[in-house]
Amino acid sequence: MPELPEIINLAKQMTKQLKGKRIADVDITQPKCLNVPAKKFRRIRGKTINETSAKGKWLFTRLRPDDTLLLNLGMGGDLIYHRNEASIPQKYQLRLTFNDESALTASFFWFGYVHLVPEKELAKHNMTNKLGISALDKTLTPEKFASLLSGRRGVIKTFLLNQKNVAGIGNVYVQDPLFKAKVHPLRLVPTLTPREVKDLHESIQEVLNQSVKLGGLRYERNLYGRNGNYGPEHFLVAYKTGKPCPVCRTRIKKIRTGSTASYICPYCQKL
Ligand SMILES: [Zn+2]
Repeated sequence: MPELPEIINLAKQMTKQLKGKRIADVDITQPKCLNVPAKKFRRIRGKTINETSAKGKWLFTRLRPDDTLLLNLGMGGDLIYHRNEASIPQKYQLRLTFNDESALTASFFWFGYVHLVPEKELAKHNMTNKLGISALDKTLTPEKFASLLSGRRGVIKTFLLNQKNVAGIGNVYVQDPLFKAKVHPLRLVPTLTPREVKDLHESIQEVLNQSVKLGGLRYERNLYGRNGNYGPEHFLVAYKTGKPCPVCRTRIKKIRTGSTASYICPYCQKL
């Protein structure tokens, strides 16, 4: 499932590759992923693509005139650019064909969304209007992060995964920042020291930025169908059950934390 680094990379590539292209045709094979009837969605024809930005796990593509295309790839989706017909896959949920015959296809296995929202109704779009600040947004300073945590009662991992608090961190990217900050995923937010909060903020930035630089996760694909370079050799404890902790050599454990799995060093991350 793509998380913030993959979405940021896709947004950059989409802006670079698609900005200025005019949508000549649209083909929808799964109307269920739309927020409006397919007939209404076809108003996208003739519009011109502008910038794309990332917010959490959503891509916001501005269209001219007056529309925004909101894409969420769900679990294991691909958004691929095609220079021409030749590389178009047999199966896709959405295909936009541009005036120069290049195309964009969206294919997802589960829970993908393709929403078209007029600019002035964007604030009312209920799947994105409650999203918290993006984890790599410049305004998410250490102070801002601390203020989001203050007064919260729950468990830190649950807080970080809740897209309404901070958007873009999923179960892959939550593991190593917790380890780096030496915080057990089940620690209660009020028990965190200011130092731990500061370390956690810094570790989140480090881990996500490193992945952005490396083109995102190895098992996710970018706009050109190529995999990212952020792989197991960059993980510290994530998915490393039984391997030695990179700091103290204690064996890494996989534990259940609510509905998700966590990977921890039981020595470095005490509860
Ligand atoms: Zn350790």
